[in-house]
Amino acid sequence: MLRVILMPNLARISYYLFGAIRRLDLSRDKLEKYKNKQLRKVVKYAFENVRFYHDLFKASRVNAEDIRNTHDLNKLPIIRKKEMRQHDRDDLISKDFKDQKLKSLTTGGSTGEPFSVYICGKEDDWRKAIYLRANITCGQRLRDRWVAIDVAERAIETSFLNRLFGVFIREVVPVTWDRHSQLQAIARLSPDILDGFSGVIWLLAKEAEARNIEAIHPRIIFGTGDLIDKASRNYLEKVFNAPYYDQFGCAEVDRTAWQCPERLGYHIDEDSVIMQFVDKNGEEVAPGERGEIVCTSLFNYAMPFIRYGTMDIGVPMDEECPCGRKLPLMKVVEGRSNSFLVFPDGHVVAPMSFIEILKAFTLAEEIDRYRVIQKTKNLIEVYVKKTKEDVDEERIRSWLLANILEGLPKVEKVDLSKVTFEVKFVDEFPLSGRGKLNVVVSHVPAFS
Ligand SMILES: [Zn+2]
Repeated sequence: MLRVILMPNLARISYYLFGAIRRLDLSRDKLEKYKNKQLRKVVKYAFENVRFYHDLFKASRVNAEDIRNTHDLNKLPIIRKKEMRQHDRDDLISKDFKDQKLKSLTTGGSTGEPFSVYICGKEDDWRKAIYLRANITCGQRLRDRWVAIDVAERAIETSFLNRLFGVFIREVVPVTWDRHSQLQAIARLSPDILDGFSGVIWLLAKEAEARNIEAIHPRIIFGTGDLIDKASRNYLEKVFNAPYYDQFGCAEVDRTAWQCPERLGYHIDEDSVIMQFVDKNGEEVAPGERGEIVCTSLFNYAMPFIRYGTMDIGVPMDEECPCGRKLPLMKVVEGRSNSFLVFPDGHVVAPMSFIEILKAFTLAEEIDRYRVIQKTKNLIEVYVKKTKEDVDEERIRSWLLANILEGLPKVEKVDLSKVTFEVKFVDEFPLSGRGKLNVVVSHVPAFS
């Protein structure tokens, strides 16, 4: 009896999943048509049922019918989290869902602005199906042992039904555990699929190597949530002897883009979310240029997201992926805009660029971890944890400073005459609340 009652949930995920996988074979034209149809539906719905959007459209003198395709979205202003947070929950949620029990996803760990997003059961199933599609494309199988280092609350994501049928069971190892306990738990669970914040997986690789733990042999690693550079990815692939595929998410609308095994760029889940890349004036940038990612969710009806500025930066690509899938590609080169470095002469430098310039990886023997914190436009501190007590601090300091002072003006054309860099040595780095490991943190906003 219980099976019969609960069946629709798993049936619905499967239904969404099969649809999502089928759409991978659509031509560009058909995908475009599908996307625009979903867009018109969600825009009309939000206008008629959500006070926040109703008022916003009115104030912008835009009717729901004026939004026919992605390009028309530019008629609407970009909305931001701080704006939405000023409204009551009832303004943001559709009147159809006011009295329904909704699932709340809390986000904002990396921006320091907690914010609750509400989704209904159907939307949650859609989200999971879109998520699974990427993993399946990269080789995950129905009955693989799947272990994720994640926030503990996510453990309930695997439903009773998944367990009953033994498919896609995602075991969660809490991100708040110490590294050694995590490693022991993972070794015990012996995953085929290892999944989690990439920065944390990188730390686990370090720990596994240091402790000579060789019992962890995943077939595939999925990472998300952090910026890790190429050298770090290569390193964790080497330690765990498995390919690493990065996934990208805008917290409020969940995972939105992912690497296929070709790893040319990140496929955008265009049938689920529209991602626009815009410049300072809200204009869409050309392929190959960087822009702020502005998301419009095509599946959130309980709490819609239309032209939502994420403060994440990406680059739209016009190349086709050799894998043949027509979902468009983007590049993820830079992280949260609060991780950009901003200099007195107005230059803004991407974290990955600064990381490359530091060339800290060439001192892997001496440097265990490092973090860059920009305090003001004129002061940047580089915190370093040494691998061993007897490592020569002066050698590290002069190497890092020499690279910065030579590299920044040369590579990024920054005038450093008013900037001070300090290298400091510390014993440990705290992780941020949700287990993210931000290598470059700036207290100077790059976008206001
Ligand atoms: Zn591909």
